[in-house]
Parts: sequence; C-alpha cells; structure tokens
Amino acid sequence: MAMRVYIGDVKKEVGRTAREILEETFDPFSVFGEKVAFSSPVKVNVVLTNCGSELLGEGKVQTELVLTCSRCLEPFVLSFEGALRFEFRNLDLIVRPSDVEAEAEEEGVRYFRDDDTSVDITREVWEVIFMNFPMKPLCDAACLGLCPSCGGNRNRVLCRCRVDTEDPRFQVLKKWKSG
Ligand SMILES: [Zn+2]
Ligand SMILES: [Zn+2]
Repeated sequence: MAMRVYIGDVKKEVGRTAREILEETFDPFSVFGEKVAFSSPVKVNVVLTNCGSELLGEGKVQTELVLTCSRCLEPFVLSFEGALRFEFRNLDLIVRPSDVEAEAEEEGVRYFRDDDTSVDITREVWEVIFMNFPMKPLCDAACLGLCPSCGGNRNRVLCRCRVDTEDPRFQVLKKWKSG
C-alpha cells in the first residue's frame, strides 16, 4: 500500500506541471485507540510543478472511512477529503552536504534524485488523513445520540423517558412555535 507518484515528465524542465491521479487500497489503522477501516480506495489528485531545485505537489486526498459516531455509537461512513501539499528537493542539485543535514531537521523535507521517475508520497497521504481526522466523529450533525436513561438510540426510537436536559428536538419545536 505504497503510493508512488510519477515525476518522469515534470522533472525534465523548470516550470512544467503535470496532474497525477492515483488510487490505492489502504489497510485499516488505529487512531485514538480505535480501529478505522477504509470503505473505498484512497484517491489522490495532485498537480506537480517543477520549481527548479524542487518539485511541488498540491492537491487533495479523498476516501471513505468507517467510523463510530461519538454520540450514538453507530458505525457510519464518512466521506473524507483533505488538502495535500508536499515538496521534494533534488538531492543532486544540493552542493553542500551540510544543507541536507540542516534541512533534515525541518519538517516535511523530502528528496529525489535526477534518476528517479517516481517519489513515494505514502507518508504524506497518511499525514493528511491523521491531520484531518475528526476528534468527535458524528454520523450526522443533528445526531440525537443515546438516551441517558434507557440507552436507546434516539435517532431510531422515541423512548418515553423524561429528559430533563434540553433536547435538540424541543429547541427546534420552540423556535418553530415562536416563529
Ligand atoms: Zn450518531
Ligand atoms: Zn430513554
């Protein structure tokens, strides 16, 4: 499940751009102690630009994740989209080795060589997924969650428990009545 993007043409001359579209099946991963699966392949749509000593990539990562709603605890599929940006510097154009060491300290600096026809962006794609991962996933912004009394899923069952706390449905009703 490595993602490699073709750079064979774009690297030929400064100023050249190329759009690359990739698709790859990713294995499940763990985040916040929970296992998350992909319900569709990871798609990358990126425009590469040859900026001279570096190749710039800008685009997006799209996929679908199977998550657990933090309110009603039901699994749901989230359409995921995150912005992707990366930079690969040409190692053969770097004269002083100390530059490489200095840059290695910087975050996100990657290198390619004149002979390379592709670069591995797997790490960058994972970073986009983790950085845009929802802390409190919701199956729906209006998810009613579980009833604190009977534990029923209030999206499905209208239980007869008395709810003392403000229920979002009552707020809607109030607005409708006063409006
Ligand atoms: Zn929910
Ligand atoms: Zn209830």
